[in-house]
Amino acid sequence: MTEERTRFETEVPGIWGLWPLTPPHWSYSSLKAIEACPSQWMLSRADFPDLWDRHGYPALPVVPAIFGNVVHGVVERLARELGAAGVESPDTGDAVGILRSLGGWRTIVLDGIERQLARFRDNPRVSAEQVDRLREELIRRAPEAADQAKVFLGRGTFPSVSEIGISAVGGTSALGGPVPRRPVGSGAHAELEVVAEAMRLTGRIDLLVVDDAQVSIVDFKTGAESQDRGDQVRLYALLWYLDAQVNPDRKLATELHVVYPAGEQAIETPDRAELQSLEDATSARVQAADTVTQQPPPTANPIEENCRYCSVRHLCDAYWSALPPAVTAVSTGQWFDFEGRILRQNGSKSWFAETLAQPPAQVLVRTVETDVAFQAGRRVRLLGVRRSQDPDDPDRLVISMVGTSEWYPLGS
Ligand code: SF4
Repeated sequence: MTEERTRFETEVPGIWGLWPLTPPHWSYSSLKAIEACPSQWMLSRADFPDLWDRHGYPALPVVPAIFGNVVHGVVERLARELGAAGVESPDTGDAVGILRSLGGWRTIVLDGIERQLARFRDNPRVSAEQVDRLREELIRRAPEAADQAKVFLGRGTFPSVSEIGISAVGGTSALGGPVPRRPVGSGAHAELEVVAEAMRLTGRIDLLVVDDAQVSIVDFKTGAESQDRGDQVRLYALLWYLDAQVNPDRKLATELHVVYPAGEQAIETPDRAELQSLEDATSARVQAADTVTQQPPPTANPIEENCRYCSVRHLCDAYWSALPPAVTAVSTGQWFDFEGRILRQNGSKSWFAETLAQPPAQVLVRTVETDVAFQAGRRVRLLGVRRSQDPDDPDRLVISMVGTSEWYPLGS
């Protein structure tokens, strides 16, 4: 049966979308995201043809996520280059030669940063100035990114290209065509794609090391160490076990590790019975996720943890009725989101608005641009604004927009 795209409207005039179809495969992160907030997952992946011609809602940049992608991109590239050159260890003189031919660590990391920033090129929510600021921040952290990539690469020896098809099994070849998925041999395999077709589940193992006796799976985290229960790496153990193409002998993983920049955690390896339970539980999760995509509209789960970095919160009515604090409860200097009704213009860069509470409170909104196209009587949502003070009238409620603040008019 062919699924139909369903159109939906939002409270923001001019922003309408088409709900996403059920994906052919789910992953650890997509299941986790749709379970945390179905609405966020669906809105983030819907198409918005009047906004741009890419899939999904234009996302706002989140520095820790981009930093993590830079590190993973550097590791993947170097593993590929070292593997293609037949270099078996990143510590050897040959590896130094490859690094030098690529311009050295700093150039490699800077290339990785530019690749990540290129993803924001057509994004209507991210200005060229914002990209420049992001670049500055990421370049400042370039030595840290190089150190993390070194730690990660230092864990393995890299086999030659002929043994593993440059590790990017199932990815894209240098010539642009799909890389055939094939059985992996002994050695270290970075960024290895694993797929359980029957479950419609896929994943990318950061590092798989295979020898005659052991199969070790390593998941690399670029953030601070957390009490990770190893759910992700355990799921990778299941994917590895079930992937008939890369693991036709159905070898079990014998070691699981979660590696942080400053340490690592060993995770208990699931045996066959535990893998079966994990497979059953994950199949049920896939089914539940499919149901969300097949029966829009999705439900929202407005809690601080979900909404703090949510890129679609201006489209989410549940968020506005549940989370943003009342402006009267926000202290000076604090960042927050504000929904109110525009009353009248005060100056070229300031407007009076009122809160939606009863009785409403009057608020002065200072803007960055002159003559912003607010309309008197219209409700608006302001994202990323700061509570500030009027030196001449300390009791006045004042909100300041900054360069990264966004505003959206609502239908009434
Ligand atoms: S704002 Fe919160 S509740 Fe709304 S879609 Fe985003 S994460 Fe979900």
